[in-house]
Amino acid sequence: MKNANSKLIIAIDGYSSCGKSTFAKQIAKTLGYIYIDSGAMYRAATLYCMENSLINEGEVLISKLLAKLNKIKIGFHFNRDSQLFETILNDENVEERIRTVSVSNFVSPVSKIKEVREKMVEIQRNLGKNKGIVMDGRDIGTIVFPNADLKIFMTANPAIRTQRRYDESIEKGQDVSYREIENNILTRDRIDEGREISPLKMAHDAILLDNSHLSVKEQMEWVMKIIEDILEK
Ligand code: C5P
Repeated sequence: MKNANSKLIIAIDGYSSCGKSTFAKQIAKTLGYIYIDSGAMYRAATLYCMENSLINEGEVLISKLLAKLNKIKIGFHFNRDSQLFETILNDENVEERIRTVSVSNFVSPVSKIKEVREKMVEIQRNLGKNKGIVMDGRDIGTIVFPNADLKIFMTANPAIRTQRRYDESIEKGQDVSYREIENNILTRDRIDEGREISPLKMAHDAILLDNSHLSVKEQMEWVMKIIEDILEK
């Protein structure tokens, strides 16, 4: 039987640019849990490929990547100021560099590779072994933590998602167009949903959240009621 002191594993999956990380971060902050962005790990692996000539003319050189896979060390460093985990690739903090449009353009092809996924899932499960974690991604409720205490699957209208990501990129000073962002979001969703291994899909026991017309505050109120119910059971 659970009680208010027991720690949960909360899995947030869904489409690109639905606000999963904003949501997951807020839940973690409210509950005093750790937040892990699993997409950041796939982005870091992609950055490694880009910087080590493992992508040529838009194609991932799979056998070369597999030969170097054990050289890719991905972890997190807790930043006390922001109270967030930052992504570390081979001892280097890459938190900012993994958020560029070029990494976004190659991340889904890299994420399709079975051996890459196996490596990431092992790290992710290890991070969750003490529970008290909110992790967001594409396969958290289906593959990484199939026994998660709460699974939420997020979606939102593609035009709304594009606009949100576009506004965010402009605010960060990135030189991108609305069309480029739209194309990236739709292409990633298509590859993520269509891949053979761990495709993006809603777990049978997940709760669907369409936040197209919800404010951040409203979706927090919604989820905190659900969490309170779980903790009271
Ligand atoms: O969450 P974010 O949009 O940063 O993820 C980037 C990409 O990483 C996704 O489009 C997907 O290809 C991949 N990913 C994944 N499985 C996860 C998290 C992310 O395949 N659990």
